[in-house]
Amino acid sequence: MPSVGGVWVFAQVDDGRVAEVSLELLGRARELADQLQTSVAAVLIGSHVMPLAAGLVESGADRVYVADDEVLGDYSTQPYARILSQLAQTHKPEIVLYGATTTGRDLAPRIASMLRTGLTADCTDLRIGSHHAKEGDYERLLYQIRPAFGGNIIATIITPDHRPQMATVREGVFRLAEPEPGRSGEIIPVTVDMPEEEFCVQVLSRSLQEKRVNLKGAAIIVAGGAGVGSKEGFGLIRELADTLGGVVGATRAAVDAGWIGQEHQVGQTGTTVRPKLYIAAGISGSVQHRAGMDQSARILAIDTDPRAPIFSVAHYGIIGDLHDVIPRIIGAYRSKA
Ligand code: FAD
Repeated sequence: MPSVGGVWVFAQVDDGRVAEVSLELLGRARELADQLQTSVAAVLIGSHVMPLAAGLVESGADRVYVADDEVLGDYSTQPYARILSQLAQTHKPEIVLYGATTTGRDLAPRIASMLRTGLTADCTDLRIGSHHAKEGDYERLLYQIRPAFGGNIIATIITPDHRPQMATVREGVFRLAEPEPGRSGEIIPVTVDMPEEEFCVQVLSRSLQEKRVNLKGAAIIVAGGAGVGSKEGFGLIRELADTLGGVVGATRAAVDAGWIGQEHQVGQTGTTVRPKLYIAAGISGSVQHRAGMDQSARILAIDTDPRAPIFSVAHYGIIGDLHDVIPRIIGAYRSKA
């Protein structure tokens, strides 16, 4: 079969459904592929997954490679990595993208090692560009963009000499593209012919924990940072969130201090959010925090320090003590409601 290149997405399946992050990546893959004037392919692996292929085409894939077999029902590193790397060796994609999920983080490095190529984890943006070096000029490069060195710089990482160029991206970084019902694409079954020793892990049982906080779906988020000062202080953040019908968010500093659970963390290593309104209280606005919230439609920042970087992304700013400002907002809102 001839090599076809293109931009690929690993379509992760969780509980019989394609993970949202994979659909978000398909949307971005479509944009990157259009820029490169190439195609988009999805790789779907699992048991009884064939019916999901049409949805991937509607979400932007021109081709879907489907490895559907009973033995692939539970994710297992070796068989999944072998299938994807063999497909990549045959069809030579330019780019392969994975969700930065537990599965993606396990699978992508294994494939990078099998294909002898690079991988950038937790990208906060992906673009196409060129690079000029002493050795020559490189075109059609994937700019793998992410904060680095403790967030002091935003690094653009490239893989000039090896293919495919690979990256993982967390859920919520890219918008979910509208599916296009009736869109046509090719669905290509892949034969799974694998030695038994590849299946060296046996899943005995699975237990799933429901997400208790839906930060990603919230229209209003009231987030607190180190400026909140204590676990009890988060009571005020929660009161404002409840008053406005919102959800509580937090910085890593607040999470690390033990004032609130990790499921509330917004940012590079937390959840990426895009609510209609994001209220940041006592949050300085580190690059890692901003990476998870700066696409919010409206941002209100409350901070005692007028030089806090959060004000550079805020649409509205209140310079003041949150313990004084928030009760006043709650009072004003309740008196109007
Ligand atoms: P600070 O930076 O200490 O800011 C506190 C702010 O509160 C200050 O601006 C201060 O003026 C203000 N303040 C103090 N008292 C009051 C008051 N009474 N009223 C009003 N304002 C007040 N961070 C994240 O948030 N999310 C992430 O996902 C994340 N991932 C990271 C990943 C890596 C690899 C690394 C190295 C760091 C990461 N961080 C992340 C941590 C990040 O670098 C910052 O340390 C963190 O965001 C700071 O949190 P903060 O703004 O709450 O605290």
